[in-house]
Amino acid sequence: TKLTSKQNTILFISSDQLLLTKFPEDIVRKSPALVFIESYSDARTLPFHKQKLVFMWSAQRHFAKECEENGFKVNYLKGEESTEVQLQHLFKDYPDASLNYMEPAEWDLRERLSKTFASNDRVEVLKNSFFMSDPDEWKQKFSGGYVMEFFYREMRKRTGYLMNSGKPEGGEWNFDKENRKKLPKSNQPPKPVSFSPDNITREVIELVENKFPDHFGELNDFRYAVTRKDALIAMDNFFNHRFKDFGPFEDAMAVDKPHIYHSVLSVYMNNGLLTPQELCERALTEFANGNAPINSVEGYIRQIIGWREYIRNYYEAMMPQVREANTFGFKHRVPQSFWDGKSKMKCISECVKPVIEEGYSHHIPRLMVLSNYANLTQTDPRELFRWFWYAYVDAWEWVVLPNVLGMSTFADGGKLASKPYIASGNYINKMSDYCAHCSYSVSEKTGEKACPLNYLYWNFISNHKDAFMENGRVSFMVNMYEKKPDQEKQTIAEESERYIEELDRYL
Ligand code: SF4
Repeated sequence: TKLTSKQNTILFISSDQLLLTKFPEDIVRKSPALVFIESYSDARTLPFHKQKLVFMWSAQRHFAKECEENGFKVNYLKGEESTEVQLQHLFKDYPDASLNYMEPAEWDLRERLSKTFASNDRVEVLKNSFFMSDPDEWKQKFSGGYVMEFFYREMRKRTGYLMNSGKPEGGEWNFDKENRKKLPKSNQPPKPVSFSPDNITREVIELVENKFPDHFGELNDFRYAVTRKDALIAMDNFFNHRFKDFGPFEDAMAVDKPHIYHSVLSVYMNNGLLTPQELCERALTEFANGNAPINSVEGYIRQIIGWREYIRNYYEAMMPQVREANTFGFKHRVPQSFWDGKSKMKCISECVKPVIEEGYSHHIPRLMVLSNYANLTQTDPRELFRWFWYAYVDAWEWVVLPNVLGMSTFADGGKLASKPYIASGNYINKMSDYCAHCSYSVSEKTGEKACPLNYLYWNFISNHKDAFMENGRVSFMVNMYEKKPDQEKQTIAEESERYIEELDRYL
C-alpha cells in the first residue's frame, strides 16, 4: 500500500524490531505509516548465510503483512540501494511527514541513518527497547572493564528473577557445577520443532538463490519460524519437551545431535519475534510449576539477563574501536574447513556441518571448538568474528563481536574475559563423543596421529607465556608447560608451526 499524502507520521521498522508492542504506545496509537526495507546492497556487505537472509526478509514480509491486515498503512521497499537511501527517497516524497525510527541495535545502520537524518528536525529517534537494560546507564562501568558476574547479580536483583527475600533462589547465584554432563549414548534429545516454508518464504528463498548464489550455507531445508505465532509454538515446544534437560547437558556435544537440549530461540529473540522478558518469565513459570530443576532455570535465565544483556552493553561501550581488536596480532585467514566442513578433525567437521545446513550450532561448538581452533591456529580474530556474523542465523554484530573479540579469543586484551577460552583435545573428549569417531588420537600429544589441538594448545601457552604469567587463571598452565622436557617443547613448537603453515586458508 502506498502512503497517502495525509499520512503525517512515518515509522521505519528495521528487520530486527518485529514487534509493535515494543514501540511507544503514543506513536503506535497515531496509526503511523509503517516502512520496511529490503536492501540488497546492505545484504552484500558480507556473504551472509542464505538462511539468514531468508529468515530476516521472510519474517519481515510476514510482519508487514500482519500490520497491514491490522489496519496500518505499510510501505515495503525493496531494492539495491542502501537502507538509508531508500528511506530518504521515500521521506522526500512526503514533505509534511515526520519520521520516527527506533535506534538500531547494529552500529553501522545506526550511524548511517544518523548521518542521513541527523540534521532533519522532522526526524525523531526512539530509544531501542528490545533489551532489558539501558546501555547509557552502564557505559561508564563497561568502558573500564566490568565483570559479568557483578552485572548478572545486579540484573537478578532488579528483575527479581529467582530471588527470595533479597537472596538467590536455592542459595546460590549459579548452578553450573551441575551443568557439565556428557550426553549418554542412549540419550536422544527431541529435535526442535520445524516449520514448512509457505508461499512468502518460498518467494524469498527464490530471491536469495537468484541474487545471492555465492553466499555461505545451504538453503534446501529451511525450517525456521517466520511469524510470531510460529515462534511462540517453537517456544512452547522447547519449554514442554527440552527445557528440563537444558541445564545438565548445556555444554555437551554429540555426533549428529547439534541442538542437544538447547532452545534455538535466540534466532527469534534477536529479531524481535520473541522478547527476552517472556522467555525468562516462561522459564520461571516452569520452575514454579515444578517442571524444571533450578540448574536448568538459572542457567537459562543467566544466558538472557546475564550474558545477552552484558555483551550488548559491552558492545555499546566499546564500539567502534573494539572492532579492530587483535591483541596477539594474528594474521591468518579463517580455515577453509569453516567454509566447507571438510576436515579430518571430527570435532571441526561435526561443528561446521549444522552451520552450513542451518546456520546454527550451540554455544560450546562456537566457543570451545570453532573459536578455540581458530585462535590456536592464529586466525585474525576480526576475520573470525565476521565469519560468525555471516554464518549464523541468530548472529548480529552486537552479539558476535563481544563473544569473539571479547570472550573467546581475548583479542581485546582482557577487557571482557579474564582469560582466552582455549582447550586441548581433552576438554572436547570430556564433553563429546567426537574423539571416538576421529582419525586423530586424543591421547597422543605429538606426532602424526596426535590430536592437533594438543600441541597447538601448548604452543599457544608457550607463545604468550609472558602475558599469561601475570594472570592467575592461566599462570598454572604456563608453569605446567615450563616443566615439560626441552625436547617435547621443541616438538610442540615445530609441529604447531608446520600445522599452522599448512592449514588451508580460504582466498
Ligand atoms: Fe577433535 Fe582432537 Fe577429538 Fe579429533 S581427537 S575430535 S581433533 S579433539
